[in-house]
Amino acid sequence: MDMKEQIQKAEESILHTYNRFPVVFEKGNGVFLYDTEGKEYLDFAAGIAVNSLGYHYPGYDEALISQVKKLTHISNLYYTEPIIEAGRKLVEKSRLAKAFFTNSGAEAIEGALKAAKKYAYTRDGHAGHEIIAMRHSFHGRTVGALSVTGNAHYQEPFEPLMGGVRFADFNDLDSVKALVTDKTCAVITETVQGEGGIYPAKKEFLEGLRALCDEKDILLILDEIQCGMGRTGEYFAWQNYGVAPDIMTTAKALGCGVPVGAFVLGEKAAASSLMSGDHGTTYGGNPLACAAVSTVFDLYENNHILAHVKEISAYLEKRLEELAEKSPYVVERRGMGLMQGLQITGKPVGEVVKKALEAGLVVISAGSDVLRFVPPLIIREEHVDQMSSILEGILLD
Ligand SMILES: *Cc1c(COP(=O)(O)O)cnc(C)c1O
Repeated sequence: MDMKEQIQKAEESILHTYNRFPVVFEKGNGVFLYDTEGKEYLDFAAGIAVNSLGYHYPGYDEALISQVKKLTHISNLYYTEPIIEAGRKLVEKSRLAKAFFTNSGAEAIEGALKAAKKYAYTRDGHAGHEIIAMRHSFHGRTVGALSVTGNAHYQEPFEPLMGGVRFADFNDLDSVKALVTDKTCAVITETVQGEGGIYPAKKEFLEGLRALCDEKDILLILDEIQCGMGRTGEYFAWQNYGVAPDIMTTAKALGCGVPVGAFVLGEKAAASSLMSGDHGTTYGGNPLACAAVSTVFDLYENNHILAHVKEISAYLEKRLEELAEKSPYVVERRGMGLMQGLQITGKPVGEVVKKALEAGLVVISAGSDVLRFVPPLIIREEHVDQMSSILEGILLD
C-alpha cells in the first residue's frame, strides 16, 4: 500500500474528528521523522509538545522495555516501585506536595477541578461553588475540561456543560476580580496559553492572581500541560515567575510519548480536598506510565536539558525575530523558551503549515493565525537553521 491507499484505509474505520495531514508517519530518530515512503521531516511539533526528548533518546527506550518485561499494569489498589519514584520526582521538581497520576491532560484538569470543589466544600460545608476561567484558554475535550475552555466553537454543541464557570480575560486582573463572588473556589489558567495562540502570562497578572487567591482563599490552578516539563527553561513555566499554584496540571511531555498526566497539589490543597474514595482511575499511574515519567526526569537531569533549553531558545527566538523582520506575512513573534509563535497575516496559516510539511518541516498552528513552534527540547542550532531556511522559502515569497 502506498501512502494514499493507507490514508483511504484509515478513513474507512477511524472517526473523522481530525482533518489529518496526508502523511503516514512510520518512525522517528532524534528530531527527525520518516513517513512510510521514506521521506524525512524535521520535527518542530514534537507530537504537540509531547516528544520533548525527540525519538529514541538514549536510555528512554531501554527503561520502557525493561519495565514492560517486569509489569505494565497492576491497579491502584497496590503500590509499585515506578509510582513511588515518579511521584517523588514530580513533587520534588514542582516543589508541591502530592501528585495524582492520570492518563491524559484533560483527565488531569478534571481532577484539579474536583479537588478545588472539594476544598471549598470542606471549608464551607456545602457545594455549589464557581470557577473562573480565561477566554481563549484550552484545557481539553472532556466535559469538565471543556467547561473551562474559553472557546464557544468547541463548547456550543455540547451544552449544557458543567455550570458555575465564568470567563475573564487572560492577562487582565481586573476582569478576574470583577467575577469573584463568595462562591468562587478556583481560578484556572494556562501559564502560557497554547492553543489560544501562544500568549505568555504577564508577571503582574500571575502575581495579582496569587494575591487575589490568597486574600479570598481561592485556589489557583495553573495548567502546565503544554508549557511545562522544561519547555520554558524551568521544569514548570510558573517557576519563571516566582508564583506557585495551589494545584498544577501536567501531561504532554511528562512521559515524552507514553500517555500520562498528573495533577499536583500544594500543601494547603492536599491537606483538605480529595480524600480516600473521592477520586480514582484504573490505568492512571500504572507502572509503564510511571517508569516513563521517572525516566524522563532522570534524563532531563543527567543531560542538563533545562540548561540546553535556556541556551537554544535564545537562538530560536533570534532566528524567528529575523524571519519576522524579513517577512511581510509575519505580524509578531511571541512565546517563552521553546514554546514560540509567529502571528501570520495575508496568508492562511494552514497553507504555511501544509507547504512546510511538503518541504520536510513539521510545524503546527495555534489559534486562527499563529504558526506554533514546540520542538523537541533537544534541538540544536543546525536544526533551527534548517527550520528557518525552509520557512524563508515559504514566508518570503
Ligand atoms: C493539550 C492540552 C490539554 C489537554 O490534554 P489532553 O492530553 O489532550 O487531554 C489541556 N491543557 C492544555 C494547556 C493543553 O495544551
